Amino acid sequence: MKIGILGSGVIGLTTALELQKEYPNATISIVADRFYKDTVSYVAAGIFRPGTAFSGPTEEITKKWVADSFEHWDEIRKTAEASKAGITELSGYIFSSISESITRNPLIEDVLPVYRRATEEELKICPGDWKYGSFFSTLVTECGLYLPWATQKFLNAGGMVFNKKVNTFGDIYGDHDIVINCTGMNAKELCNDRKLVPVRGQILKVDAPWLKMAYYADYDTYIVPGFSAVTCGGCRNFESWDMKVSPHDTAAIKERCEALVPGLKTAPLKEIRVGLRPHRDPCRVETEFIDIPNRGIMRIVHQYGHGGYGVTCAPGTAKHAVKLVRDVWTGYSKL
Ligand SMILES: Cc1cc2nc3c(=O)[nH]c(=O)nc-3n(C[C@H](O)[C@H](O)[C@H](O)COP(=O)(O)OP(=O)(O)OC[C@H]3O[C@@H](n4cnc5c(N)ncnc54)[C@H](O)[C@@H]3O)c2cc1C
Repeated sequence: MKIGILGSGVIGLTTALELQKEYPNATISIVADRFYKDTVSYVAAGIFRPGTAFSGPTEEITKKWVADSFEHWDEIRKTAEASKAGITELSGYIFSSISESITRNPLIEDVLPVYRRATEEELKICPGDWKYGSFFSTLVTECGLYLPWATQKFLNAGGMVFNKKVNTFGDIYGDHDIVINCTGMNAKELCNDRKLVPVRGQILKVDAPWLKMAYYADYDTYIVPGFSAVTCGGCRNFESWDMKVSPHDTAAIKERCEALVPGLKTAPLKEIRVGLRPHRDPCRVETEFIDIPNRGIMRIVHQYGHGGYGVTCAPGTAKHAVKLVRDVWTGYSKL
C-alpha cells in the first residue's frame, strides 16, 4: 500500500508515525510545502490542555481523542527519548476572578493525574484578586524539538519526505493509494471548507529557565514553560488572517503576564511569533472519495481543524485517521 500524508506539522508527523506502527511494510510519504519553524505547530506552547469547546463529531469521540492523546504523549514521556522528543511533565494553576467554570475542564479532569480546586493559600500565589482557581498536572510537547525528532524517526523507519505545494488533490492523483489530508489552515482552500476559520494568536517566547510552573488567568493570559523558552500569551482573533506582529498585542501580553508573574519583567525576549489556529467545529476526521475529472476517484482521509489544541489532540485524531485508512483499505468504507 502507498500512503501519502499531506502536511508536516504536528498532525501530519504524528499520523506518519502511527501509520508506520500499523503498516510497517507500506510505502509512506509526507508531502508538504512548509516544515519545522514555518508551521503553525512550531508557534504552539504545546501544553496538553484542550479548550472546553474543543469538539469531535460526538462527545464520546471527543473524549476518546483526548484520553488516547494523553496516553500516547505520556508513554513517550516515560521513555529515554522524552527530552529529545520535547515532552515533559508540567504542573500549573488556572485562576479567575470571574467564574469558577473558567477554572474547570470536564475534558481533562478525569484524564490528568491531578486536577483539583486551588486552596485559599494557592489563590494568593500570584498577584491579583483571584476568587477561583484549579491546580493541574499535565504534559507539554515542545514542537521545536518534537517536529525534528518525529521527522527523523519517520525517516529512520523508511518514510520519505517531499517538499511540494499541492494546489488541488488532482496534483497528486495516482501517486498514493490513500491520502491523509493534514494541511491545517490550508485545508480551507484545498477542500473549499467554509467551516474552517483562522483564530489568530500571538505569543512572546522569553528566557526564564527559573520558571517551572504554568499559569493561566482571565483574558487569555497564559505562561507556559518549555525546554528552550517560556511562552507568554496571548490573544484569539476570530477570522483574522493577519500574520503581522502587533505591537499592541505585544504590549498587552507583556502587561498581563508580568502582572501575573512579576519575575518575568526582567526575562529577556527571545522571539515573537504569530500563528493562525485552524479552528473548525467539529474538528474534521473523516473519509471522502473525491472524483478527479477525467481521471478517477481519490481516497482521502481528512484530519484537520484542531484549532488551538492540535498538539494536545494529535495522537488521538491520528489513531482515528489510521482506523479510517484501515476501513478504506479493507473495503469497509466503500465508494
Ligand atoms: C499562538 C498559538 C498557541 C498554541 N498553543 C497550543 C498549545 O499550547 N497546545 C496545543 O495543543 N495547541 C496549541 N496551538 C494549536 C496548534 O499549534 C495547532 O492546532 C496545530 O499546530 C495544527 O497543526 P497542523 O499540523 O494541523 O498544522 P500546521 O502546523 O500548520 O501544518 C500544516 C502542514 O500542512 C502543509 N500544507 C498545507 N497546505 C499544503 C499544500 N497545499 N501543499 C502541501 N503542503 C501543505 C504545510 O506545509 C504544513 O507542513 C497553538 C496555536 C497558536 C497559533
